[in-house]
Amino acid sequence: METTKCLIIGSGPAGYTAAIYASRANLSPVLYEGEQPGGQLTITTEIENFPGYPDGVDGYEMMEQLRRQAARFGADMRQGKVTSIDLSHRPFVATIDDGASTIAAEAVIVATGASARYLGLEDETKFRGRGVSACATCDGFFYRGKVVAVVGGGDTACEEASYLSNLASKVYMIVRKDYLRASKVMQKRVFDTPNIEVLFNTNTVGLFGSQGVEGAHLVRYKGTPQEEMFDIAIDGFFLAIGHKPNTEFLDGQLELDGSGYIVTKGVGQATSVEGVFAAGDVADPHYRQAITAAGMGCKAALDVERFLLASSDGH
Ligand code: NDP
Repeated sequence: METTKCLIIGSGPAGYTAAIYASRANLSPVLYEGEQPGGQLTITTEIENFPGYPDGVDGYEMMEQLRRQAARFGADMRQGKVTSIDLSHRPFVATIDDGASTIAAEAVIVATGASARYLGLEDETKFRGRGVSACATCDGFFYRGKVVAVVGGGDTACEEASYLSNLASKVYMIVRKDYLRASKVMQKRVFDTPNIEVLFNTNTVGLFGSQGVEGAHLVRYKGTPQEEMFDIAIDGFFLAIGHKPNTEFLDGQLELDGSGYIVTKGVGQATSVEGVFAAGDVADPHYRQAITAAGMGCKAALDVERFLLASSDGH
């Protein structure tokens, strides 16, 4: 069976950065890109907050540049998705595309990211990138002076609504229950912001618009079975109903926190299994930024280098 010293799973900023560092350290990493090469950033419009791009950069283009940088040092980037992995003993054995191939690895970096949750409405797909977004810090700037809605009542939704309230003229929060789940301090911030209006007991039924989003069809529950249908005019529709870390293929072999994120130990990126490291959104419930993911990818590759050195010394 093919063997690699360092297997990197995932191709967002964490995976590619890990590949840059691992290949420069002569670890000849093999990276599987997964279903969406480049990850979440390739579906955002423009990235304006990644240091080093004073004029902003297209998300797809930035990931392509990271990929090329990793390739320059010899990282072996491959199409394909790791669909399962055996972490019970080293070398670990990963299965690609449900059995199309297998590869053994001395060390593994899991950088599979997290996927934003969507409501599951057809209109979300129809208007994705044309008014529908799951990232206010990525796309909020395009809604300066406009009216937007944020779906969700957790900390993320409150944070996104607060962020957007500094850009947009008005922010609706669409909250399905009659209370916010967010922490008290975040709730206070929302309630103290005059241009945020919270619509409680409200769900989204659909979106409408010709080119992009122009409004949302909503339903408000006024006590069963009473309900009221109404529309709001909006230019942007932001989902903030949580993220789902992409960990299914691990099949419970790594310790996860209560929200499903991989738990890392100590100052580095080590996980509950020796020789397995995690980087980026799959292990980050707090920041979820391209720059933090890249930083974790760098740390994970350095951790792998030290781990392999220590294990070859017999430690
Ligand atoms: P949460 O799971 O905390 O909140 C999700 C919100 O989305 C809830 O209000 C939930 O409603 C709502 N929701 C879920 N599914 C649907 C649906 N189908 N339709 C409508 N609404 C829906 O996720 P967050 O991303 O907000 O937070 C994740 C974790 O990260 C939390 O632990 C949070 O505290 C933490 N975090 C902390 C921050 C901070 O401290 N600054 C910032 C951001 C996140 P309901 O309440 O009805 O279930």
